[in-house]
Amino acid sequence: MTIKIPFVDLKLQHQPIQTQLQQVLQVVLEQGDFILGQALSDFEAAFAAASGTEYGVGVASGTDAIALGLQACNIGTGDEVILPANTFIATLIGVLRAGAKPVLVDCDPQTALIDLEAAIKSITPQTKAIIPVHLYGQMVSTRQLLDFADTYKVLVFEDAAQAHLAEREGFHAGSLGIAAAFSFYPSKNLGAFGDGGMLLTRDSDVAQKMRRLRNYGASQKYFHTESGTNSRLDTLQAAVLHQKLPYLPQWNRDRLTIAQQYDMELASLANSGIIPIQNQSGTGHVYHLYVIKVDDTCPTERQQLQEKLTAAGIQTGIHYPIPCHLQPAFTSLGYQQGDFPQAEKLSKQILSLPMYPGLSSSQIKEVVTAIADVVSTGSRLDPSAAVVGSIAA
Ligand SMILES: *Cc1c(COP(=O)(O)O)cnc(C)c1O
Repeated sequence: MTIKIPFVDLKLQHQPIQTQLQQVLQVVLEQGDFILGQALSDFEAAFAAASGTEYGVGVASGTDAIALGLQACNIGTGDEVILPANTFIATLIGVLRAGAKPVLVDCDPQTALIDLEAAIKSITPQTKAIIPVHLYGQMVSTRQLLDFADTYKVLVFEDAAQAHLAEREGFHAGSLGIAAAFSFYPSKNLGAFGDGGMLLTRDSDVAQKMRRLRNYGASQKYFHTESGTNSRLDTLQAAVLHQKLPYLPQWNRDRLTIAQQYDMELASLANSGIIPIQNQSGTGHVYHLYVIKVDDTCPTERQQLQEKLTAAGIQTGIHYPIPCHLQPAFTSLGYQQGDFPQAEKLSKQILSLPMYPGLSSSQIKEVVTAIADVVSTGSRLDPSAAVVGSIAA
């Protein structure tokens, strides 16, 4: 199958700045400070400043930023942490690795973001923190989050792995609560040449503890004040990320423009059950992903639509096909099918369309036309067609 329109295209992003990227790699190569080098502290400061906060601590992955970050905030054994059921599994793994008890809640079916009303109902005397996941690049309402945190005295620890430089109601992703975790996985809005992550915070104690935790718990060389681990963002990766950082605002604007065109062109398919996930944060949405719902009124099932798009050379994704509480690894948490109906329903309806800076206007048209073609020939709502189909098979 030839791919006409890929789901992401990183080459497109790197080609125009390839020479600069090679140069910064060369500088690190000559300097030789591969671990905790100059380019790392430079990038930590730059990314924290760009996100409207104080300190950055680079680690090996977004998952480590969550797990170690919670520990750095003294969130762990005996504490409950509220998080959405419909997130990437790393959010849940981070909570478990920190030793805290994850408390999953459902989501808003329009935005796919955590349902704060449901979160209120899940509060107990043990609730220490909430992890809003700024899913698909849209921040959870900062006003509502801060109200929530203030009223119920819980900490806000952001999972901003999909939301570099996103904004809402005057706040940048990463500047809202006690700390925030970012991922620099290559396909994230700001991506490294491999794995990477960062914790942002304006609390110097949290930052200092995080620096120890990522470096074997050492407060100085060979003097260990706690049991940490080895999780540092490579100097080489930091150099690449710092070089890419100035382009990020434009890349995010490109994503927004692409999303706006998708919105416009898909509007005519609303009656056919193709409903984009809602943007309630205006131009602050950074569209890590552009996600549609294929709802029950659509003549085509989600799987059928995805298969036919693939056959037409258009790559899509599903983020995510199984909510956290139904993953086989986590049955011991005691959740069941039916516990989070909105998250479960979304997992069956959502489809992520191609989204990356450089995706052209004509390519967007092609994707939407292909969707319209499939939907117009769909047969889910025609029972006679289904019967004929099954007899023929
Ligand atoms: C990517 C991602 C992570 C994990 O980041 P890694 O760098 O892959 O470990 C965590 N949470 C969310 C929401 C993500 O999208």
